[in-house]
Amino acid sequence: MDTLSRIGVVGAGQMGRGIAQVLAQAGCTVLLNDALAGAAERGLARIDAALGRLVEKGTLVAAERTAVLGRIAIVPDLTGLEGCDLVIEAVSEDQALKSRLFAELDQATRPEAILASNTSSISITLLGAQTKRPGKVIGMHFMNPVPVMRLIEVVRGLATDDATYDAVVALGRRLGKQVVTAADSPGFIVNRLLIPFLNEACVALQESVGTVADIDTGIKLGLNHPMGPFELADLIGLDTCLGIAEVLHAQLGEDRYRPAVLLRRYVAAGWLGRKSGRGFYRYDAP
Ligand code: NAD
Repeated sequence: MDTLSRIGVVGAGQMGRGIAQVLAQAGCTVLLNDALAGAAERGLARIDAALGRLVEKGTLVAAERTAVLGRIAIVPDLTGLEGCDLVIEAVSEDQALKSRLFAELDQATRPEAILASNTSSISITLLGAQTKRPGKVIGMHFMNPVPVMRLIEVVRGLATDDATYDAVVALGRRLGKQVVTAADSPGFIVNRLLIPFLNEACVALQESVGTVADIDTGIKLGLNHPMGPFELADLIGLDTCLGIAEVLHAQLGEDRYRPAVLLRRYVAAGWLGRKSGRGFYRYDAP
């Protein structure tokens, strides 16, 4: 049974704001939090703009835009999440940060609330172990951009209980998404395959196998992918790609998962892709 209607979203970056939008469009009450001053407000403004584009396209009526926005409230700290049925964590892909946050969420929420992570690669079992409710901790891996992409990868930690899994799968379906279930293995299904591919594109660029444009065009026209690897890496965020690659390398332990030096350098330079205005390509506004 899906009884999840009051939902916290922690992290209001590109994923958190997309998750907040689809939840509110499905009728949920959403409480949005971000630790960075002004980030939740910026997230809400981006949601408003996204809804505005739907109204222009005729896929959302203007009154519904107001109603959807009215279902999202900003909470300045985690105590505002006390009454939630579910909290979805979507902060940066950093194991220490997420571990700390799960311990804090365990204190801040009712013991019966479900705590989900949108992590791309970090162990759900490990996050669950930071709490006193590992049975209620689960992975809910949305794809980017959340309102457009139809998949949610649901990840069960070793301790995740059936009721938690069933409630999250039901919510995913209510959001109009298709759910696949992945084991708690580094990168789960999607990023276990995607990140080595994106990383290899960086290695090929490093070795001058082709230019950024030629590698992207080669993959789009040669493999019928909608985006080239560099376009996709810029969309995901190069810091996020590197974070996932580091988890795959550390946890799977094989050289073939080692992050490309070029990827490390881009992140060190602050060239994070679309969100910073520059990655493999340049963008007008982040
Ligand atoms: P992002 O950089 O756009 O946003 C991260 C947000 O988290 C920022 O606004 C930051 O201020 C906030 N934050 C950091 N520490 C916080 C804390 N302690 N409390 C509250 N907020 C905090 O990153 P993103 O692309 O939205 O990625 C977020 C998560 O989603 C990551 O785990 C990532 O792996 C996962 N994910 C990303 C993609 C993608 O394509 N980018 C796809 C699927 C899943």
